[in-house]
Amino acid sequence: MSTENISFASLNLAPEILKALDEFGYTTPTPIQAQAIPIVLEGRDLMAGAQTGTGKTAAFALPMLQKLMPLASTSASPARHPIRALILVPTRELAIQVEASVKVYAKHSPLRSLVVYGGVDIKTQTPHLMKGVEILVATPGRLLDHVEQRTLQLGQVQMLILDEADRMLDMGFMPDLKRILALLPKQRQNLMFSATFSTEIKKLSEEFLKDPILVEVARSNATNENVTQKVYHVAQEDKHALLAQILNETETKQVIVFTKTKLTASRLARQLVREGISADAIHGDKSQAERIQALDAFKQGKINALIATDVAARGLDIDQLPMVINYEIPSAPEDYVHRIGRTGRAGALGIAISLVSPDEEKYLKEIEKLIKREITKETTNLPARGSRSSSDHQPREKSYDRAASTPRPSPAKKSIDPWFDKPYEPTGDIAAKPQTNQLYKTNKPKREVAALLGGLPRKG
Ligand code: AMP
Repeated sequence: MSTENISFASLNLAPEILKALDEFGYTTPTPIQAQAIPIVLEGRDLMAGAQTGTGKTAAFALPMLQKLMPLASTSASPARHPIRALILVPTRELAIQVEASVKVYAKHSPLRSLVVYGGVDIKTQTPHLMKGVEILVATPGRLLDHVEQRTLQLGQVQMLILDEADRMLDMGFMPDLKRILALLPKQRQNLMFSATFSTEIKKLSEEFLKDPILVEVARSNATNENVTQKVYHVAQEDKHALLAQILNETETKQVIVFTKTKLTASRLARQLVREGISADAIHGDKSQAERIQALDAFKQGKINALIATDVAARGLDIDQLPMVINYEIPSAPEDYVHRIGRTGRAGALGIAISLVSPDEEKYLKEIEKLIKREITKETTNLPARGSRSSSDHQPREKSYDRAASTPRPSPAKKSIDPWFDKPYEPTGDIAAKPQTNQLYKTNKPKREVAALLGGLPRKG
């Protein structure tokens, strides 16, 4: 059965929340929302397999607000606004986005939310904390800073949410997470969201979830069916020229270009700017203000190409991003899935282009193994070296086919077929594949198709 028939109202959400959703333009719950919301409202622990772009934020934020609603207070006293829900996220950008979403959904309730993250003066956050907030979104390190400074109390936390748990582990947050868990009341509800199910993630979930229900909206490590993936085999020293060509030829206005290192990101952004392409880099060495500025400029269309490293890009929520380019493909195949998950959201079409040098062939093979498909190979039509203005003037070591027909990447346009504009319809084998995970209890008997993308019976 399709999730099309499920409404937010049928999920038993309060009128205040429904009103906010309506004003924000959400009409239908996405599959992860349709599946997760009833489970969270029941008070169960949840392990959710969902990538960015599936609507996972609302999947935890809406039932969280619903559960906190009876405790909402209009009193000005900080004591009436203890931290009741703690949302831990790996990056500052994601923290900001998650809290912004919570604020939108909570706008018609007196529940207060706040975001705290590192890289900014802790003193600026303290006065807001002191006023009292029910919902705190935090990066683990900064949360512990506040704990040390005794600027917050965690004794009344009744709900803990770990968002992008896999990335938190990748970023080495495990010791911080353990310290935080030890500070929380034992009696609480735990929700964990992860794009992938590695052995470490399973271990973490065993450690901190109690008898969880597993929901999954896409096969772990699956890639979005709406994203057209292409590979160009190109010598490392020719990548810059090919990238410039793709960016110049495409009608697409917003492209994220991924590099492996901060250094390459900065250098590439400068090179592109010199060639008249509006670009900026976003990576961990930039100050928070610079990162926000670059992201805002990109969102407003002032910058066409945002050059990002994996860590910096994590959590970037840019609606309708039509194109992602891997200037360098990642050595961890899961990162490829994360990267291309930036495009093709909510049923829109997207394009993901990877520039693969001979040295990177082995990584490409790993990726194809993980996503269980071969990525279409394209040929380049770069002009002969010397006639282009690349600033990468290194000798070419290997020739490749430059004579083939124009490989112009088609811009990701919304299809005229309205099917593509429907949110989160199940497609292909993602929808058809039953989830099997021995480690968790699933809600199969009760909701026999709940574990499948989009498959939830209607309530009532
Ligand atoms: P997330 O996976 O939480 O990062 O959400 C991805 C995007 O989907 C965000 O831009 C959300 O605002 C949007 N979104 C989430 N839920 C819905 C919904 N039910 N209807 C339409 N858009 C949604």
